[in-house]
Amino acid sequence: MTRVSVALAGDCMMTRGSPVTADPRSLALRDLLVGADFAVANLEVVPSDGAGHPAGSAAGGGCLIADSGVLDEIRALGFTVLGCANNHALDMGTGGLLDTMKLLRERRMTFAGVGRTLAEARAPAYADGPTGSLALISCASTFAAGQEACEPSGRLPGRPGLNPLRYRLEVRVTLSQLRALTEIDETRRQRSSRRDELVASLNPDLVALYERQRAGGGAGAGPLQGRRCGACRIEIDRGELARISAAAEDDILRCPECGAILLRVRDFGA
Ligand SMILES: [Zn+2]
Repeated sequence: MTRVSVALAGDCMMTRGSPVTADPRSLALRDLLVGADFAVANLEVVPSDGAGHPAGSAAGGGCLIADSGVLDEIRALGFTVLGCANNHALDMGTGGLLDTMKLLRERRMTFAGVGRTLAEARAPAYADGPTGSLALISCASTFAAGQEACEPSGRLPGRPGLNPLRYRLEVRVTLSQLRALTEIDETRRQRSSRRDELVASLNPDLVALYERQRAGGGAGAGPLQGRRCGACRIEIDRGELARISAAAEDDILRCPECGAILLRVRDFGA
């Protein structure tokens, strides 16, 4: 049986420079990609020689425009098959997209997901190698209105663009699951009003500190459990612990590791 090896990479967002360095890990990655029968990536930049004009989001600073030479670097890395349907494909408008397609064809790179019409953008692209053939379909579910390709209609030409994938999320639950969800909602509502009452009784600065700490993604507060912070579970060193023990009862203490407010709860796992 013939083996076909395919290396699949994610977004290729290179805008300049050679991605391969003298780092052995970098060289090993290149060897892996070059050694595969097919290496596939998502071309997340617009390789540009100046064609097209920045689109809305691109003009706002969110553009990924590269010198067209990056395509040669991408090819030298072993990538010969590229998916092109993504939210940056039209950063330089349809003019830039048509130029991307031209630059890819000139380099004989296989690409899918964009085209002069919807049919072209939807079509699979085929790559043939000594061990077999590969077909690629590329589509995007995140894109701005008007970036999707469209078919010609009557005397109107088609619109160059990407292959759009629209989807709708539908969750089906049983009656008992729905009841459980309703119960969770009710409990949450009760807890939330209880929380509001408690917050009103606390020092606003302390509440603000707690909320800032929580906004960072961790726990806002945790009990001091022996030498351990109850929020991050890391042991506090003896020096810090001595400072904590010496602190006044109403001092606000924070974990030196995670920043959580430390609660000195009497008899809590001391
Ligand atoms: Zn901590």
